[in-house]
Amino acid sequence: MAEHYKPQKYKAWELTLEERFQEYFPPLGEREAVTEANRCLYCYDAPCMVACPTHIDIPTFIKKIATGNVKGSARTILEANLLGATCSRVCPVEELCEGACVLNHDHPPIMIGRLQRYAMDYAADRKIKFFEPGKRNGLKVAVVGTGPAGLSCAGELAKLGFDVTCLEKKPLAGGLDTYGIVVFREPVEVSLSEVKMIEQLGVTVKTNVTVGKDVSFDELVKQYDAVFVSVGMGNVPALEIPGEELEGVVDGLDFIEETKIMKLDSIEFGNRVCVIGAGNTAIDCVTIARRLGAERVMIVYRRSEAEMPCYHFEYEFALKEGVSFMFLTQPIEVVGKDGKVEGLRCIRMDLGGPDASGRRVPIPVPNSEFVLPCDMVVTAIGQKKRIDILEKLTAFGVKNSKGYIVVDPETNRTEHPKIFAGGDCVRSKGEASTVMAVQDGKIAAKAIFNQLVGSTTVQQAATRK
Ligand SMILES: Cc1cc2nc3c(=O)[nH]c(=O)nc-3n(C[C@H](O)[C@H](O)[C@H](O)COP(=O)(O)OP(=O)(O)OC[C@H]3O[C@@H](n4cnc5c(N)ncnc54)[C@H](O)[C@@H]3O)c2cc1C
Ligand code: SF4
Repeated sequence: MAEHYKPQKYKAWELTLEERFQEYFPPLGEREAVTEANRCLYCYDAPCMVACPTHIDIPTFIKKIATGNVKGSARTILEANLLGATCSRVCPVEELCEGACVLNHDHPPIMIGRLQRYAMDYAADRKIKFFEPGKRNGLKVAVVGTGPAGLSCAGELAKLGFDVTCLEKKPLAGGLDTYGIVVFREPVEVSLSEVKMIEQLGVTVKTNVTVGKDVSFDELVKQYDAVFVSVGMGNVPALEIPGEELEGVVDGLDFIEETKIMKLDSIEFGNRVCVIGAGNTAIDCVTIARRLGAERVMIVYRRSEAEMPCYHFEYEFALKEGVSFMFLTQPIEVVGKDGKVEGLRCIRMDLGGPDASGRRVPIPVPNSEFVLPCDMVVTAIGQKKRIDILEKLTAFGVKNSKGYIVVDPETNRTEHPKIFAGGDCVRSKGEASTVMAVQDGKIAAKAIFNQLVGSTTVQQAATRK
């Protein structure tokens, strides 16, 4: 119930605006990387490899760093994951590879993510090209959306000789890697250089093209041998409370996007900012607000600390940034004056018994309303389902469940033999992440090849690797 606000000297403000938005973790130097690589036990049946959704051969890429073969290390990473540079920066490594490291019992785990970044940066700095387009097989695939799922699928297919066209509604390709992941975790340039690498494999990327508006799914299904749908999720849903239309109420994803594509000193922000929600997006929004210069930033969340959906390390990060948390607090109205936000009317909540998902249900406490003074409200309560796309795909017999496209997990194929899907638009269970989207793209590419060219050739290709 209590508001944990710790006024403190905020170190980031001693930096310039640009410096505050630099990558949070500095790159490892050569000596640091080699020393860290030499800590690795190179386990047989390494659990980190199993925990990585793209199953990068982690002990091998680390061994190559230890022996000075950084180029070879980068190749090992990219063979399993074409978006290795992004993943090295954004993967929740504590939950994945590093969380599985056997050293965890009594030592810090190997810094797998940072070693991966070291190898990826080495290759990027030297503009090393690892793969060539495969021998053309005369087959055409359309990829809808250029987030990590779409790019991974497109790149893998191009390596196998397909003629791939990616259609992207935004002006820049890269999906949330370009527009949604906070800049101090991944600079836009890293995402765009991955797009370039995919284009160098012969993939055509057409931006400012919305499938369903500028071109129909019907046309794609007729003109291409297969279609991979990787449209992600939508913007933040409406709060559905009075006052939402006031100036100063901002969609959290739009707020993050501004920091990725606009000049930092041109971004408007409030001095007292309330961010609604407690997932990873909410944490990104509060951190951005603080780093832009907001004096008082708080998260407003209707459940308690124990139910927060954000990763624990994200929570700790926000606390260090001087963000305060209002738990068991439900916003019920945005209060305004002259069309602008002036406060957030809230009601205190209590937790009742568990719901179907096992989480305790928040219940309003009678007569406990109060107003939090603020001049900006950022909404970060999840992302809208892609009902628009699901409706269009239903015409092809593609099934959906609870707002997600249903696919066969072995192939990522939908009920329609030509339509495959992957990434957030199919992730009905578990935490959505970049690396899982990359793996979906790989699975679909392999299945498309298998279906259209034949499994014998797939096996031959796998043996060659
Ligand atoms: C704010 C935020 C922060 C995140 N931070 C992390 C993180 O730190 N680490 C992590 O692992 N994951 C993170 N994630 C999750 C991760 O970004 C997603 O899981 C991942 O991007 C999903 O990839 P995708 O390819 O399915 O979709 P997206 O990346 O969403 O890409 C979908 C693409 O499809 C395009 N598109 C949509 N509709 C159409 C259409 N009709 N026609 C053409 N193009 C279309 C979109 O413009 C977009 O480019 C974060 C997510 C958010 C929202
Ligand atoms: S891709 Fe992500 S999960 Fe896999 S090894 Fe790299 S940092 Fe770890």
